[in-house]
Amino acid sequence: MEMKNINILGDYLSKRKNIVVVPHINPDGDAIGSCLALVQLLNKLGHNTNMISPNEAPYFLRWTPGFKNIIYYDSENEKCSSLINDSELIFTLDFNDLKRIGDLGEVINLSSSKIIMIDHHQNPKDYADLIFSEPSTGSTCELLYEIIASLGYEKKIDAKIASCLYLGIMTDTGSFQYSNVTQRTHQIISKLIKFGVIQNEIHNKVYNESSISRLKVLGSALKNLRLIKELNTVFMFLKKEDLKKFDFKKGDSEGIVNYGLSLKNIIFSVIFIEDLEEENKIKISFRSQGEFSCNKFANTHFNGGGHINAAGGVYNGPLDDTINKFKKVIYSYKKQLNK
Ligand code: 5GP
Ligand code: MN
Repeated sequence: MEMKNINILGDYLSKRKNIVVVPHINPDGDAIGSCLALVQLLNKLGHNTNMISPNEAPYFLRWTPGFKNIIYYDSENEKCSSLINDSELIFTLDFNDLKRIGDLGEVINLSSSKIIMIDHHQNPKDYADLIFSEPSTGSTCELLYEIIASLGYEKKIDAKIASCLYLGIMTDTGSFQYSNVTQRTHQIISKLIKFGVIQNEIHNKVYNESSISRLKVLGSALKNLRLIKELNTVFMFLKKEDLKKFDFKKGDSEGIVNYGLSLKNIIFSVIFIEDLEEENKIKISFRSQGEFSCNKFANTHFNGGGHINAAGGVYNGPLDDTINKFKKVIYSYKKQLNK
């Protein structure tokens, strides 16, 4: 952590009261957890802080402390725009490119507030006045903990804030199984438990309160699993008609792509999901094991990005075209995938 940036942040906070905190579109556990932790900490410090999300989060995050106070840009854009216009500081959390927040990006671009990025994805864009970008850190929540501690506010972390931070670290590390987990991660978790986190409750709320639709959607994806053996790659797809049939809810498809990596020798797993609302729009998730870069692959071919072992992207076109394109480009990675 660069102390120079911490000092600048301390200075911003000492002079500015009205604050907005923003996660990426389709916010996940790390985005929701980091934003809600920061909102609650700043309000404890006497700021007037609101969280504005581009759109809704999945149902299994609704228990997160502070969740009911989130304001959604897609349903209340005037209220959001006026909060942004009245703000003096804007924190953007768990993303590093204004493209990741849709139309809300333009509103923020036009604002005269100081913008602070706190993020752990690769290749940050240059839109912020102050940048905390640590791609080697496993989650934005872990990075945020370090920032809070460096600012000297560790003692302000209560059980609610700690639970939010725990959520993001847990979800972005696949419950502490990925290579992004370090000694430091566990030291921070130990502190969060000291501050009041009840970890088994959080695991249960996130992973063990699924609706039946999630398992049906999982079944459908697994049925549509295809193996490209020579490239140690699998891909799956979810068709709109099946999602409708199984009463798909936002969040039901989260994490399904990881099942591909549970197969022996598989180092690259991909899922293609047809958008329910927009025609010819395919959301893609990429996961890898080891050195194969999902971020580079997503960025080069599917207008996306993320981390080395987890990234996302989109394709505008029919599902068949998307899969055909994937099948075509994947063979140029034969050297990296066929080891
Ligand atoms: P997921 O596959 O779970 O949606 O996302 C995996 C990772 O890639 C997350 O860290 C997420 O923020 C990032 N990501 C997902 N979709 C996109 C995208 O369309 N563009 C970029 N730049 N990153 C994405
Ligand atoms: Mn994250």
